[in-house]
Amino acid sequence: MLEIKNLMVFYENAIAINNINMKCQSEKVTGVFGANSAGKSTLMYTISGIILDVKKKEEMKGGERITLLGNLTFEGTDITLMKPSERAKRGIILCPERRRIFAESSTLENLKIGGYLATKAQAKKTLDYVFTIFPALKNLKRREGGFLSGGEQQMLAIGRALMAQPKLLLLDEPLLGLSPLMEAMLARAIRDINLQTQITILISEQYARPILPIIHHGYILENGGAVLEGSSQELMDNPDVKSAYFGL
Ligand code: ATP
Repeated sequence: MLEIKNLMVFYENAIAINNINMKCQSEKVTGVFGANSAGKSTLMYTISGIILDVKKKEEMKGGERITLLGNLTFEGTDITLMKPSERAKRGIILCPERRRIFAESSTLENLKIGGYLATKAQAKKTLDYVFTIFPALKNLKRREGGFLSGGEQQMLAIGRALMAQPKLLLLDEPLLGLSPLMEAMLARAIRDINLQTQITILISEQYARPILPIIHHGYILENGGAVLEGSSQELMDNPDVKSAYFGL
């Protein structure tokens, strides 16, 4: 389980995360929903630890000051100050917003790069699994990442993250810019990955509609704070959520 306590993140004096307390239960899917700038990516960077690298870089070049308060625990270990590479070894793997596919590498190469933390046997088994869950990728093995469609790139980004043997998979806005058909297909695939592999998943999205049905528990983020939480059904039934995130 991941537990976040009293998390605050500031970029200079601007607050991006405002006292968030949340949990991602093991083997479940947790959702985080919020508009542009609500703090979703900052939250994902903080959980994966990448924010510590950004903070260090900014300090070295005399850039903006990033401040983090609060703490994060993963499977009983305090990871608040743990390097992102160490978190990755422990199974915290980020699938970043806008996919970040290596455009000049083929689909297969992209997947193999994701497997750098895996043993040969794990890589082979996971590669087979990725082609089972995303059969479309099998026919695109040799195509360069840059020539894939948005939906194919997203499948590849998730596949690449799976190759890293995640225990906690962080999906930052995986449906961004995709067609409703592709959204539905990916939401189903994400649910199947959780059911079939028991990987714990945290997923952030701006629009809740395609994702709400597949989560076990969700949080609504506004201006960096978690203003509401509940089960999938509770959030679907909540009139504020309906008007803000479903346009009903
Ligand atoms: P989006 O849907 O646009 O990705 P988000 O919910 O992921 O939004 P964040 O990117 O985490 O939100 O941004 C949260 C707040 O922090 C915003 O007000 C944003 O402008 C600010 N912010 C994010 N990154 C930086 C940065 N490097 N320097 C200064 N402010 C930042």
